[in-house]
Amino acid sequence: MSRLGLHRTLEDMRAQVAAWKADGLRVGLVPTMGALHAGHLSLVDAIAKNADKIIVSIFVNPTQFAAHEDLSTYPRQEATDLAALETTPADAVFAPTVQEMYPQGFTTGISMAGPALGLESETRPHFFGGVALIVLKLLTQTQTDVAIFGEKDYQQLMVIRRMVADLNLPVEIMAGAIQREADGLAMSSRNVYLDAEQRKIAAQLNVILHQLGNHRASAEVAEAEAKRALLEAGFTEVEYACIRDAETLGVPDANTRARRALIVARLGETRLLDNSPAV
Ligand code: AMP
Repeated sequence: MSRLGLHRTLEDMRAQVAAWKADGLRVGLVPTMGALHAGHLSLVDAIAKNADKIIVSIFVNPTQFAAHEDLSTYPRQEATDLAALETTPADAVFAPTVQEMYPQGFTTGISMAGPALGLESETRPHFFGGVALIVLKLLTQTQTDVAIFGEKDYQQLMVIRRMVADLNLPVEIMAGAIQREADGLAMSSRNVYLDAEQRKIAAQLNVILHQLGNHRASAEVAEAEAKRALLEAGFTEVEYACIRDAETLGVPDANTRARRALIVARLGETRLLDNSPAV
């Protein structure tokens, strides 16, 4: 018998949260698209220190994929995911259908500027609209007290923090550290797309990211150098390799308090993201 409660509808999920809250318990949410790896599971462990009950949501969100992207082939493995979660402090899984989250005739959207501009939006203009929409729905529907997002998707974390502040949502947003393979490659559900040769090249991403983040030259020189190094390492395309203000994600200026190095490079069809603090 599974220890985890499995909820497919918003009504069912809300009822569970209401029951926990009636008992005075603090409820946490870990939003994911499934195909869980140790990076996701680390978020469950991290939020456990700050919540009495933990929900992990598993939902491959169609509105954050463009027509040409990998929505239909995105790895889906619910039974394996549920088994993995049995070994964590998670208490419930929320795995709704697309119809449940996007009722027939759905038309509402969210448009954001600020940290949602540039970087990911350059090549994926639909992306943060879809992410903000599903996260807003998950947060308002589950009414959890706290939610956690990985620094792996750093721009996403900043977009969500901005949205939660802008809309005065009564939820605490936590950040989870990036979990990596032994050779430094950031864990990702999309790493399964890499063949053996690409997997070797992929390990260079983190090495070059650290060089970018610790570069003492001007940002322009450091960024050009990182692009050159990535192509030389065998990446097929560099979407961006840059130093940004860690909070606004704009180009650093006199108000910048902390900086972040961010890279997205492609190996064939696979997009790899990584980021780290920068000097
Ligand atoms: P996803 O299933 O890709 O939407 O990711 C769900 C959550 O897990 C997001 O908050 C991600 O930032 C986070 N995540 C993904 N990979 C990692 C990782 N390697 N380390 C830490 N968090 C991660």
